[in-house]
Amino acid sequence: MGGHELAAAAAATLPEPPKENLYVVLGHVGTGTFGKVFKASHTISGRMVALKQIKMEGEKEGFPVTAMREVKLLQSLRHDNVVRLYEMMVSHGTVYMVIEYMDHDLSGVLQQKEFEFTDAHLKSFCRQMLSGLAYLHHKGVIHRDIKGSNILVNSRGELKLADFGLARVYQKRRKSDYTNRVITQWYRPPELLLGATVYGPEVDMWSAGCIMLELFTKHPVFQGVDELQQIYVIYKWMGTPTLEAWPGLTSLPWYELFKPTEPIPNRFREGFKKWLSPAGLDLAEQLLSWNPETRITAAQALEAPYFNQESPPAVTPVGMSALEGEWHEMESKRERDKRRRVED
Ligand code: ADP
Ligand code: MG
Repeated sequence: MGGHELAAAAAATLPEPPKENLYVVLGHVGTGTFGKVFKASHTISGRMVALKQIKMEGEKEGFPVTAMREVKLLQSLRHDNVVRLYEMMVSHGTVYMVIEYMDHDLSGVLQQKEFEFTDAHLKSFCRQMLSGLAYLHHKGVIHRDIKGSNILVNSRGELKLADFGLARVYQKRRKSDYTNRVITQWYRPPELLLGATVYGPEVDMWSAGCIMLELFTKHPVFQGVDELQQIYVIYKWMGTPTLEAWPGLTSLPWYELFKPTEPIPNRFREGFKKWLSPAGLDLAEQLLSWNPETRITAAQALEAPYFNQESPPAVTPVGMSALEGEWHEMESKRERDKRRRVED
């Protein structure tokens, strides 16, 4: 994208020419693919925002295509569980996305020890995540990178999906051919690990299942060191898939390569029953269905007994406002390093 087009794109989202010093930077909260993410406040309204830098250095093609995709997608979305993109800004030659500020990300907030989440709070997080996904999928968008650092939480206990850098619009009727090198490995569904390039929103639902378990255990549950290991970690908990349950299995490109030498039994309920309630286990198991065709959709998941029949009902963790400090993956890493140094 050339300079003129960029200026036009910026002008389209800005009613007035960009004013410098419209925002005061208060700190650095994260590092993105295209630069840093800053916390800033709007000088006039005092509203907190995140400024996500899109650096063009080293980009031969000018404004990065994936960043453009993220901007365009976010502009078309508006939902309580999806971060709002307020505007685009250019300052000192660098482009910024001005996004609603979120105090924590999920991986950060699960690591802190100050505020303890109840089962009702975790149910609320789970429902908010699924509401965001149901909205995206309804709008024909697959997120393709659902994980703790891309799910943000604010001090009012609201959860919002963020980071649309890998998101794609999909054709509802016709499944298109995509790259399968998406979704961070620990959250990647089996069909992608087995090489599928034709897929749909079900890929996000597997990741959501991983997140649901992580909410309760506080740790990513399927931590493989490489792709082969990853599928074996899944085998270990979910058992090896059967052809009855997943008839499409044998036609996946890397099926032979990852084929288990012997069948492994499912240990899911046994392994997770100390963390989740029976209806919670039911839902997680339906999200982590091997067969993408039978995997529960976000809209169906919102109707699950876990939300509508089993107590406790979901409660928004409003008490989080008392939390001191802000927890993003960056702070929790720093905290971890600090602890490690102390322990060493
Ligand atoms: P990338 O595409 O490079 O992963 P992200 O959008 O995920 O970029 O941003 C990187 C990190 O910055 C996030 O994991 C989060 O910790 C922080 N961050 C991003 N957006 C916001 C926001 N709106 N409010 C607060 N922190 C944010
Ligand atoms: Mg991210």
